[in-house]
Amino acid sequence: MDYNLSMIFAEKLYKILPASIIKKLQPKIMSIVAKQLHIVGQSMNYVDINVVDHCNLKCKYCANFCPLVNEKFLDVAGFDKDCERLSALSSGKIKTIRLLGGEPLLHPLLIEIMMVTRKHFPLSEIDLVTNGILLLKIPMAFWTRCEAFGIRVAISHYPIKLNYVKIKSIAKEYGVKTVYGKKPRGMYKWLLDINGCQDIKESHAYCIRANQCAVLQEGKIYACSLPPWIRYFNEYFGKDLRVNEFDYIDIYKAKNFAEVLEFLGKPIPFCKYCNTKKIVYVGNIKKGNNRMDIIKTRGVPRAG
Ligand code: SF4
Ligand code: SF4
Repeated sequence: MDYNLSMIFAEKLYKILPASIIKKLQPKIMSIVAKQLHIVGQSMNYVDINVVDHCNLKCKYCANFCPLVNEKFLDVAGFDKDCERLSALSSGKIKTIRLLGGEPLLHPLLIEIMMVTRKHFPLSEIDLVTNGILLLKIPMAFWTRCEAFGIRVAISHYPIKLNYVKIKSIAKEYGVKTVYGKKPRGMYKWLLDINGCQDIKESHAYCIRANQCAVLQEGKIYACSLPPWIRYFNEYFGKDLRVNEFDYIDIYKAKNFAEVLEFLGKPIPFCKYCNTKKIVYVGNIKKGNNRMDIIKTRGVPRAG
C-alpha cells in the first residue's frame, strides 16, 4: 500500500471507529503509514521552501510554528545560491518544489523568488501553496508571472470564507492553473517530549512526517519541518530543544545526491523530542484563540 492509500485507509478507520478504539489503534496505524515514507534512497518528490515564516492566520495546529513568528522573509540572494547548488546536486530532478510558509503572498519579493525557482528548476513542477486570503488583493503581475513561469497556485483548505469561484475565474483569465485542497477531515496532535527522552529509532518508526517532503532552508536539507523551525518554539517558550549537525545535510558539503537521499530516510538525533507513539487524531481543524494554543495541542494540519 502506498502512502496516500495508507492515509485514506487511516482516515476511513477514524471515521467509523469510536474514539476509545482509535486511541488504542493509533500507534499501529501510524507505523503502517510511516513505513511507506522511510524507504531510504527513493527519489525526492517534494522540496518545501518557506518564503516567509510568519502568516496571516494563526491556526491552532500549525506544523511550522508560524503563529509564534513575528516576521521573517526569505533572503532572495541566499535562496538563488541554494537553488543553484541543489539543482546541480540533483541534476534538476526534483519532481515538485513547493513555495509556502507561513503565507508566501506576504513576501514583497515573491515574484523574484518565483523567477529564481524556475530559472534553476526548468523541468520541475512548482506550486505556490497559499491559504488564499490575499489572492483577490494581489497585483495582477502575480498572475502574469505565474503563467510565464508555469507555476500552479495550490490553495489549502482552511475553515475560512474564501471566494474560490472568483479566484478561479481570475486565474483562468490569466491562464494559471489552480487547485483547491479538499476539506481536511481532521488533524493530529503532535506531542513533543521537551526533555528529549524518546528512543530515536522508535520515534522515527512511528513518524508520518519523516521523508514526506524535504525542507530546504539556508543551505541545508531537513527530512521534516520540525528541526528548522523549532527555534521559534524555543524562543517563544524559553525551551532548548537542540538541533545539531546530524539533523540536516549541508547541500554544499554533500558529495552527491545519493548521499542526500540516504540521509532523508533515516532517523535523526532530533527524533528524541518526538513522542510519535502518542500522536492523537483530534478531529476538526480549529482556530487558535491565542499563541499559547500551540503548546497545548500542537499538530500537523493536513493541507491540500
Ligand atoms: S497552518 Fe497554514 S494558514 Fe495556518 S498558521 Fe500555519 S501556515 Fe498559516
Ligand atoms: S524529528 Fe524525527 S520523529 Fe520528529 S517529525 Fe522529524 S523525522 Fe519525525
